[in-house]
Formats: sequence, structure tokens, C-alpha cells
Amino acid sequence: MVAEAQLDVEVHGAPLGVLPVAEDELVACVACGLCLPHCPMYRVSGLEQLSPRGRIAAMRAVELYGSPLDAAFVATMETCVQCRGCEAACPSSVRFGHLMEGAREALAARPATRRAGRRAAEWLGYTVVLPRHAVLLALTWLVYAGQHLRLVPRRFGIPRLSARSLRTPLGAPAGDASAPDAYLYPGCVMDAWQRDVHRDALRVMRATGARVAVPGRGGDCCGALHLHAGRVREARRLARRVVSSMPGDAAVVVDSAGCGAAMKEYGELLGTDEARDFSARVRDFSEWVAEQAPLALRDTGRTVVVQDPCHLRHVQHRETAVRAVLAPAYRLRDTDDDGLCCGAGGVYSLVEAELAGSIRNRKVDALRRAGDGARDAVVVSANPGCAMHLAAAGLDVRHPARLLADALAPRPDRPDQETADA
Ligand code: SF4
Ligand code: SF4
Repeated sequence: MVAEAQLDVEVHGAPLGVLPVAEDELVACVACGLCLPHCPMYRVSGLEQLSPRGRIAAMRAVELYGSPLDAAFVATMETCVQCRGCEAACPSSVRFGHLMEGAREALAARPATRRAGRRAAEWLGYTVVLPRHAVLLALTWLVYAGQHLRLVPRRFGIPRLSARSLRTPLGAPAGDASAPDAYLYPGCVMDAWQRDVHRDALRVMRATGARVAVPGRGGDCCGALHLHAGRVREARRLARRVVSSMPGDAAVVVDSAGCGAAMKEYGELLGTDEARDFSARVRDFSEWVAEQAPLALRDTGRTVVVQDPCHLRHVQHRETAVRAVLAPAYRLRDTDDDGLCCGAGGVYSLVEAELAGSIRNRKVDALRRAGDGARDAVVVSANPGCAMHLAAAGLDVRHPARLLADALAPRPDRPDQETADA
């Protein structure tokens, strides 16, 4: 939890209208409380001020009645995982994600609301590392060396890195077609740490017969983490880069649920026709596969427990696509927790590690209950952040692309297909 005593924050009343949110969105909440059971923070804390209703009340107090942007307000905002489970459950269509992004933007504009160490770490992460892919890759080599020297604890959840994978880019920007049917968007952290998932996604996409390309220059960081942190100007700059890296009409396939959710909202973020057209082209990986002709898959007989990433379920509303594409090859099981968040939340698991751990404990219990009795059960997650957070708790977590690639039936005309494409 944010240490209130260590923050140098405003203690006097804030000027009215300090949050960049629309008043009609703020007053749309009728305080019915129907969202409360869907809030992971409320479930672990039982505290009204950490519920969606309590957070909206705090925003109203600041925005409409001039309450101070004090340490209590900072803690109330920063302990939100931004899972948007409340938004999906709200009968009054309160745009909680939008409101929270506005609150975070107001806090990000006031450096005094962050401790100095955290400000420095955020500056490094958001302005030096994430937008500069070469820097991120160089740091990843250091992590690789650290893993070999056993200096990186497994509880960090970083996947086992491979020098072969790091040395080998996904492909030239032109990909395998000058006018592709689809782009596969590699992202920043996922390209550095989970590039083999992208390779499996490419194999699956090409198995549909599609001509697949990767983005040109600028098609790395999508700005989703910046947006969550309230760094809206930087998020817009990165979004413009991503839009221009994938020209044409081809589908933009994203195998990270968090990135895909952000890119589907570029239209609203940038407010241009170009961005709206781009957002309409974005598909989650499983969503895109489900739209193609059915793949030739073998029945593996394996049991898979489905974890729905919040940004796939509550924002993109495409969680059924994962089940649709995996069902021919796997025995699928659902959890009994109504899709409650796992606590990963982008960098939330780093900055609020204790709370993220408490939220994860509930999720791990639900996933284990669902897999009970199946000796070989694995968990499937369509979001790299959730996968790493859950793997750090000892679960075997796979991406849908990995599971589909494992189940691809060899084509009779290309019996060597699986090894040749790998
Ligand atoms: S956010 Fe929606 S569900 Fe939650 S208390 Fe307000 S109106 Fe009710
Ligand atoms: S976004 Fe998630 S953590 Fe935040 S208030 Fe809503 S349900 Fe709770």
C-alpha cells in the first residue's frame, strides 16, 4: 500500500475541475454496489474506500467539492488494479476505466504524489526503456545472463529466456507479403521475453493460409502501460507510432490481451478517423483465428483450465474466442470465480506486490480447484502479464498460440511442417 507518511502531497483543497474527467461520467454512478463483488481489491480488503463505488466517491469529492489530492486519495487511486471488472458489471454503464485514467493523469501531473525513488524508476521505465526497443532488448540480455548465473529468482515470473530466440528477430517488416492479410503485432516486453509465443502465433496464422507480416518501424510499445500510469501524452505519441507502422487494411492481430485492449481504444485516445479505422482492424489472436476457416487440429486429450485476462473479458469481451479455438483439441475447464482478476495489472504486481499477491492467491486457488483431478492440467492465459504473474506462483501457464501450435495436425502435403516452421 502507498506509504502515506512518505508522500509530499497537497493537504489543502484542490481547485475544482482538477481531474480530466467528464462530470456526467462521474455522476453516472448511483452507488448501487452491484460492482463490489467483481472488484478484486474490495474482495481482499473489504474496505469501501477501495471499492469502485468508494473510488468514484473520492473522485467526486475532489472534482466537485474541492477535496485535496492528499495521500489518502493517492492510495485510493493507486491500489486499483484497473481490471475494469466493475465496469463490466455496472448496470449504469459507468465508464470506470476512463475515470481512473483521468485520476491517474491528474496524479502523474503532480510529481509530489510519488516518492523520489519511484519517480526515477518510472522515468527510466516509461521514457527510456519501453519506447526504445533496442534498450529493452539490451537489458533483456542482462536478464538472460542473470538467469544463467541463477541471480534472477523464479518468483519474478520472467520466462526462461533463450539466446537463440533473442538473436533471431521475428522477421523483416515486409514479412512474407507486401500486401499482407494480417499483421502480427509483437509489442515491447512480449517481444523481448516471450518471442517464442509470437513464433507459435505466426505458425498458427500461416496454417490458416494467411500471408502474415510484422510491423515496420515504431511497431513496438503500444503505450498501454503509459496510459494506465496516467502518462497520456506519451501514450498518444506511442499510439501514433504504432498506427503508422502497419499501413493498409490488413487485420492487426495482437496476442497480448492488454495491448489489444489499448489498441482497440486508440480511436478514442487519438480522436482521429485514422485511429478509429485502425482500431476497427485490431483483433485478439484467438478472435482472429476463430474468424478463419477451422484449423486442422489433433485431439490432444489434455486438460486446460482457462484464465480470462481482464482486458480480454471486461474490455474486449472476446473471452469466448479462446474457448472456441481450443475446444477441438483440449478438454477445457472454467473457474468458479466469475472471471475475477488475478492481480497482475500491468506493473501493479511490481508496485503493489503485497496486494497483488493477495489477489493472486484467490485466483490460484480457483484455478487449482478447476484443474482438480486432472494430472496433466495446464492453465491457458491470453495475456503475458497474467501468465508471468501466475507462473511466479508455480502454475504451468501457456498462451493459446502455444497450445494451438502444439495441436496443429501435420499437413499431408507438408509432413515436415511443424519442425520446418519452428
Ligand atoms: S459503479 Fe455502477 S455498479 Fe458500481 S456502485 Fe456505481 S452504479 Fe453501481
Ligand atoms: S478496476 Fe478492478 S480493482 Fe479497480 S475498482 Fe474496478 S474492479 Fe476494483
